[in-house]
Amino acid sequence: MASRVSAVLDGLGVVRSVRRFAAPGQYLQGPGVLDDLGAVVADVGTAPIVVIDAAVADLFGSRVQASLASAGLRAQVLPVSGPVTRNAIASTLDLVTGGGDVVVGIGGGKALDIAKGVAAHLDRPMVSVPTVASNDGPTASVFALYDELGRLSELGRLPTNPAAVLVDTAVIAKAPIRFLISGVGDALAKRYEARSCARGSGVTTQGTRPLAIGEVIATGCSRILLRDGETAIRDAIAGSVTPELEAVVEAVILLSGIGYENGGLSIAHCMTRGLQVGRGSARHLHGYHVAYGLLVQLALEDDAEVDRGEIRRFLTAVGLPTRLADLDMADPSAAEIEALAVAAASAPHVANTWVDASAASIIAAIRQVEQEADTGDN
Ligand SMILES: [Zn+2]
Repeated sequence: MASRVSAVLDGLGVVRSVRRFAAPGQYLQGPGVLDDLGAVVADVGTAPIVVIDAAVADLFGSRVQASLASAGLRAQVLPVSGPVTRNAIASTLDLVTGGGDVVVGIGGGKALDIAKGVAAHLDRPMVSVPTVASNDGPTASVFALYDELGRLSELGRLPTNPAAVLVDTAVIAKAPIRFLISGVGDALAKRYEARSCARGSGVTTQGTRPLAIGEVIATGCSRILLRDGETAIRDAIAGSVTPELEAVVEAVILLSGIGYENGGLSIAHCMTRGLQVGRGSARHLHGYHVAYGLLVQLALEDDAEVDRGEIRRFLTAVGLPTRLADLDMADPSAAEIEALAVAAASAPHVANTWVDASAASIIAAIRQVEQEADTGDN
């Protein structure tokens, strides 16, 4: 990604005025849409390689096969499990026999990212079928690779966004609720990150300055979440697909994805660097880290136009963290807070804000968030 960013910088270090838009080619969402998979894949290729989470294969494998067969497609099905490492992608590639002209990823974030790795290596288009709504990864071209210790080691990238994304809300509604809660945390931050990036001199994952559409969509995304988030989570716990759940799933996967790819990321996502390896916090999903990171970003930026109290009340209402203790890092030591801040300050998006985001400033913002959680101030 660094090379893409530098590609749009001229010799004087000034970002060119070109700005680039990214989005998936097609997006379908609704209860039962999994059964349309064959028809959608047939528009993209004739010999699909299906990379599917092994547990998801047990639940939905026969439906997937039936849908692909009904469209006249003979698929090669590769069940996967475990973390997204170079080894996991290489061993999945080893199982590929013969030619495949489209890669279909089915499952949670890990299966989809392994599928993206396979698609990137084979230079094939990709179709995403998320079975949880835990983040915006299904619509995006970027995927995250981890080392054997679970640390983010590099970002990979498909040449284009997924050709199609299929989101079966009846499947999403049956997943453990922590996934949807995580998705809400990941998506809520996008509005403030896009604003941060636009107000500063930030660069999006397209390697250009943001287009207006990123912030516009991320703002609509956060409105939907603040309006329908609590109801949607209640509905998902009950396993019911309601209009509110549909709206929130669209916000979490589609709006959040377009918002971040075109609006840019900022401090909220920088904070995930340290939290994903921190004491206790490492056990929590990405969106929980982003939610806490959002509070740190808002404390750091101290933007008069943002009602931080409203954000804090919403996070509490939907079960997202507002203090490190909520991420199982109770009574954080000075060294632990410093480690979080140093990791955040080393993330590439740290430059995407208009305020000073040095490790020292981030330490002060973390302390402020912790103190406000204790006193209820905003
Ligand atoms: Zn994210």
